[in-house]
Formats: sequence, structure tokens, C-alpha cells
Amino acid sequence: MARVYDVAYFNRQFLPFKDANVSVASSAVLYGLSVYSVFRAVKRQSTWHTFRLGEHYARLRNSAKIINLEWPPQLSETEFTKIMTGLLERNDQAGDVFVRVSIHADALLPGTRTRGVSTQMSAFVYDAEPIMPSSGVRLKTSQWRRVPDNAIPSRAKVNGAYVNSVLARQDALDAGYDDCIFLDQQGHVCELSAANIFLVRDGMLMTPDTASDLLEGINRRAVIELARSEGIEVRERSVDLTELYIADEVFASGTSAFIASVSEIDGRMLPKRHPLTDRLVVLHEQLLFADENKH
Ligand code: PMP
Repeated sequence: MARVYDVAYFNRQFLPFKDANVSVASSAVLYGLSVYSVFRAVKRQSTWHTFRLGEHYARLRNSAKIINLEWPPQLSETEFTKIMTGLLERNDQAGDVFVRVSIHADALLPGTRTRGVSTQMSAFVYDAEPIMPSSGVRLKTSQWRRVPDNAIPSRAKVNGAYVNSVLARQDALDAGYDDCIFLDQQGHVCELSAANIFLVRDGMLMTPDTASDLLEGINRRAVIELARSEGIEVRERSVDLTELYIADEVFASGTSAFIASVSEIDGRMLPKRHPLTDRLVVLHEQLLFADENKH
């Protein structure tokens, strides 16, 4: 378990982490009615760098909009940024961390609805430990399918929808793998339990398009931009599972996954060298320290 830092945000105030709690009778607990995002923050020479905070704000807001969760009044992007940087500053021992920020339906027993149900934002800080092994990720295709856009949209980062991820990842772990690959209802590749997926073939980078029942990862977008800036052709399109088996490189991207090379899929070994992935790892890390991410 990663270390959680002392100061959290909840009920429109900074408070001890142990006091940041939603009720067991809230819709957040009863129905998983919360939306969330996790972003990385690193302190260097007393300056905090937060990775694409504006995009996290926009995705959180869109997640709430998709499921009709009331947006907390006055929570503008400026206010959101002020709260997040205030939270980081109050946890002054922290250095390289993830911040999990959620909007919870906190009303007690409102029944199965969202309209008019009050919400609260919470945020807490914990050590940035990658969820993937650094030595090459081993993936197993799941027999569980990704929740489709017309059931629980993967585009919205809804807490309750993560039951789908937990089911599939636990099966992969039980079978001795590191994570699962989700397919959609038609059998095309979507993503992993909490990361997007890319493949390299003949020098071209490919990833499932955003209509493939996936979360529109902020690192996914960053990787696409970085690859294009390096002159690499990038295609967002429907991906077959067998394309992954014969790829030159496969990697995962995500805040908690970082950029992680995949070494094996369903018992098929991938090439040991991943030169483009290695280059993207370096560029991606540099991006965090770009001026636009400074606070
Ligand atoms: N897909 C899923 C299902 C996820 O939970 C995550 C992690 N947030 C990602 C993809 C990667 O998204 P991001 O790059 O924004 O962390």
C-alpha cells in the first residue's frame, strides 16, 4: 500500500486525511456514484509540477456531465487548480506523488437518481508507485468484456464502473499475469484495467480509437502528440488482438502505469527491444517538467 499524506481536501476545506469521509448511506458508497481522476505531481527545487491539470479538470467535469452528477457550485478550473496546489503545499514532505481527486454524490439515501443530489469534491495525496512492473508487463486477454458506451460509458471515469476493471484484472493476476486486455463487444481491443494500449508495427504507432469503449487517457493523448512531434505516423483505429501478438513493440500508458513496455501477451513473447517505447518514456518524463506544468 502506498503511503497517504496527512492533509486531504473534503467538505470545501483542508483537513486531516482520516477525517475525509463520505457516509455509508451516500450514493457514492451505495451505487459507486463518484467520478474521479488521478494526476501526477513532482516537487523539484521547491516548485511543484503537475501533469496537465487542466485536462484532468476537463475530464472530471465531462465525467460528471455524462452521468448527470451535479458539479459542485463555484468549482471553476481556477478554483480547482488553487485547491490542488494548496493541497500539495500543505503536504510538504511529499515529493513524487499521485493526487486522487473525486466528485462524490454525498446526499444520504436519495435513491437511484442523480439530478438534484448534492456532491462534494475530495482529494488526497499518495506516493507515486507505478502499478506495472518495470521489467516488462505480461498481459492476458480477459473473458470479461469492457462495459460498452451504451451501458456504463468508459469515457466517463465513474468509480462504480471499476468493478469491470477489478473483475478482469483479478482474473489476470490469478493466472499469474500483471494485467488484462479488455476487448469490446465486437472483439476489438479497448485498453487494460487502468491504462491505454499502443502497438508499434513497421515504424507506425497504433492505438484503439476513442470510439472503442476506452477511457480517453491524458497520457494517451500526450504519447500521440510526442510521437507525432518525433515524425512518427500515428493511427487511431480499431485494433485486432492478433495485431498485438505480432507487433514489434507494445506498451501501456497511464498516470499510474507510466509508460510500461509489454513483454508477453497470452503466452506469446514480444521482441525484447522496444526502442520507440524507450524514447517515448524519456520524452514523456521531460514533458512533466515543461513550463506549462509548473506551479
Ligand atoms: N484507462 C483506464 C480504464 C484508466 O483507469 C486509466 C487511468 N486513469 C487510463 C486508461 C489512463 O488514463 P490517464 O492517462 O489519464 O491516466
